[in-house]
Amino acid sequence: MRIFKFGGASVKDASSVKNVASVLEQVGSENVLIIVSAMGKTTNAIEGIVEIYQNNPTQLKTAIQQLEAFHLEIVEELLGENKNELEEKVKELIQQLLFFFQHNKSPNYSFVYDQTVSYGELISTTIIAHYLNYIGLPAQWLDARLCVKTDSYYRDANLDWELTQQRIKSHAKKGKLIVSQGFIGSDQNNFTTTLGREGSDYSAAIFAYALGAESVTIWKDVPGVLNGDPRYFKDTVLLNQISYREAIELAFYGASVIHPKTLQPLQRKEIPLFVRSFINPKEKGTSVSKGKTLEPHVPCFIIKQNQVLLKLSSLDFSFIVEENISEIFALLSRFQMRVELIQNSAISFSVVVNNKYNRLEELLTELNIKFKVKVTENVNLFTVRHFDQKAKDQVRSFGDKILLEQRTRQTLQVVLKND
Ligand code: ASP
Ligand code: MG
Repeated sequence: MRIFKFGGASVKDASSVKNVASVLEQVGSENVLIIVSAMGKTTNAIEGIVEIYQNNPTQLKTAIQQLEAFHLEIVEELLGENKNELEEKVKELIQQLLFFFQHNKSPNYSFVYDQTVSYGELISTTIIAHYLNYIGLPAQWLDARLCVKTDSYYRDANLDWELTQQRIKSHAKKGKLIVSQGFIGSDQNNFTTTLGREGSDYSAAIFAYALGAESVTIWKDVPGVLNGDPRYFKDTVLLNQISYREAIELAFYGASVIHPKTLQPLQRKEIPLFVRSFINPKEKGTSVSKGKTLEPHVPCFIIKQNQVLLKLSSLDFSFIVEENISEIFALLSRFQMRVELIQNSAISFSVVVNNKYNRLEELLTELNIKFKVKVTENVNLFTVRHFDQKAKDQVRSFGDKILLEQRTRQTLQVVLKND
């Protein structure tokens, strides 16, 4: 089987949905399972609705109506006068979403988030599966929550690999084109869970692993994996081939093309991953597989914006030793801070963290009890793999002040602050 993943940008409106069908017609849809994200910016929109639910509930209905209108417009454009059946399905899903908000008693934000944000994927796949059938490409809609089984760590759930493999094997049968959701799964109690923002690539890898798929293709609005994000870096080039190992490193340092968790399962079974353009589906794009590290061999640039640099020292000038460090890490983990870079000396410990869940204040309250803490917010972390002198100069020119620099043989990392 082949697994295709279509992200939000590839299904953002009616013409993109038609393009998905055209990609399938061009590259074949037999024994294909497609994993689809929410349409366009729908995930952000529902995140906004959760916010409204909590802070501004009188606006809730209007916000949900907008979400409905957005999807119904796409349905209308796709099906015209044949829209009734699909329109009903979409309205039904919207009703379920509203019903959840109206009846929910849980104060657990992450739980509420997963139960609701998942509707983005449920609606998009309902529309796409229906449309494919309508144009004569028989497709079966599969609820990923029957297959992807996780723990209850809402918003960033961890997979139960054993059970998930069994479930996928029994639900995803060869033959017909299957359409399922990225990003979502369910826990032991069958409550919906999500795998973390941008988690649909990972979903594709999970299905591929369980099915021992022939390949995974991520269809994107770029030609493949470039050696830097063209929004920030000049003269980027397309990477034709990267090894799993290199791709894992790039994803780890924040290259946004491939979700970090995606690669390991694929590498384990040596399932090649292709990143290709849904605009030019005949182009080869990038292949991530066993083989050459990097072809062409060029420096690869990654930027992480809006990070926080913490510099900790002990209150009494004593050394920072293992015991303090493990304590610091325990706190970082407790407050869900993702650690991007660490550096330590005898009396200080510097760490760059990603304050993704907005828990910096809480963390600082705890850290301040034991350490002197210097906080620099809004720093940029640059990583260059396979750096050379020119690449180094290029990165340094991005900021006024180098706060920290670290390098290994292959990797240069620089923390920069703009004044
Ligand atoms: N729709 C989810 C998100 O935007 C998952 C994904 O697109 O991969 O984060
Ligand atoms: Mg998305």
